[in-house]
Amino acid sequence: MRIETDAHLEQFRAEVRAFIAEHNPGIKHHTGVRAPGPDLVPEIRRWTAMLFEAGYLGAEWPERFGGTPGVDPQRAFVVAEEIARARVWAPIGAYQLASAALIDFGTDAQEQYYLPRIRGGQDIWCQLFSEPGAGSDLASLRTRAQLDGDHYVIDGQKVWTTNGQHADVGYLLARTNPDAPKHRGITAFALDMTLPGVQVRPLREITGTEDFNEVFLDGVRVPVDAVIGKVDDGWRVANSSLAHERTGVASMATELLQNVDRLVTLAKDRSDDAGLRRDVGRIATHARVIDLMSKSVQSGMLAGRTDVADAPSVKIFFSETNLAMTELGMALQGSDAVAVEGDEGAVADGWWQDAFLYARAWTIAGGANEVLKNVIAERGLGLPRDPS
Ligand SMILES: Cc1cc2nc3c(=O)[nH]c(=O)nc-3n(C[C@H](O)[C@H](O)[C@H](O)COP(=O)(O)OP(=O)(O)OC[C@H]3O[C@@H](n4cnc5c(N)ncnc54)[C@H](O)[C@@H]3O)c2cc1C
Repeated sequence: MRIETDAHLEQFRAEVRAFIAEHNPGIKHHTGVRAPGPDLVPEIRRWTAMLFEAGYLGAEWPERFGGTPGVDPQRAFVVAEEIARARVWAPIGAYQLASAALIDFGTDAQEQYYLPRIRGGQDIWCQLFSEPGAGSDLASLRTRAQLDGDHYVIDGQKVWTTNGQHADVGYLLARTNPDAPKHRGITAFALDMTLPGVQVRPLREITGTEDFNEVFLDGVRVPVDAVIGKVDDGWRVANSSLAHERTGVASMATELLQNVDRLVTLAKDRSDDAGLRRDVGRIATHARVIDLMSKSVQSGMLAGRTDVADAPSVKIFFSETNLAMTELGMALQGSDAVAVEGDEGAVADGWWQDAFLYARAWTIAGGANEVLKNVIAERGLGLPRDPS
């Protein structure tokens, strides 16, 4: 298991840290928030391009698209950790998912068109998977794509589309064969979000931001060459690209360890409260365990040993510990907890309120925890299946 990194990697870490300190766009990144206001998007596009240009992102891509042959795959985790540590914006949108789908399943023409545009920050992608009736049970999605000459006509509705309001391209799953078993009649598309019939409606969340969107697709005509992979094979394309989203475990652990420091700062005036010491100690211990779990998962990934239960376990423990931590942080503030950023008396400039309001989302994003527990039980531990 990789716990301590070697000198070479630590040198790389120092280089990334210095790069971020010098070049980051200096835009405040509210904790948890995934979609910036529209005024910040041009700066984030520039920042994305810089990270790719420096070789900190996309290093594992094919060399002809800017990848670095033989690159140490651990570097991707270091970059994710340093971006989380510095609390700067990471590139927004579903670029990791989309690039993995294009590299593994795209045509030469798709790769040549889209990959440089992702690198250059020209194209922000969103993930058009979830629907009002298809979240945990994604394969029951009902958005239809019907062949009409050399186009597909798309009709349906997507929801929870993070960054949909900023996206240039959507990584869309739609049903092309309603007669096939539900996992088999789905096709993946690269959807130009500017096409007629695509309507994006932002959803305002409890955090006051608009991370999510509803996306309505009404008779959208998409050329057949927008299909990613084979027709009716979109379930495999989607699952394969989801498996490439590997660096999330690194950023979660880094973020949590930092947040524990905030909790300790908040609690230190009450260090004579034994119950509180126990609660803070438990959360701090969980955060450390999650960091070790994350490193163990990373080392497994690097060695080609992945267990279906690995990433879900980190995600569940992270989101539950994060939720407990923010609830305790709010409780410690008493009536001051109602003061948000900009209010007089707001603790840590309202950081806790942002984190608390967003913490529940982490228990759902990337697969609801209850569903991931089923994955661990059934596919990881081989326990009997949940009655359907
Ligand atoms: C922060 C965030 C960002 C997201 N971004 C995107 C995005 O960009 N693109 C996109 O396509 N989607 C996105 N999603 C959607 C996300 O994938 C879904 O919310 C998630 O899969 C759950 O689906 P659902 O919301 O429809 O809930 P449901 O599937 O309806 O679940 C509702 C409740 O029932 C429980 N439940 C469901 N099935 C079972 C079961 N078999 N056993 C036990 N309990 C069960 C769930 O755990 C949950 O508590 C995002 C979600 C969040 C929170």
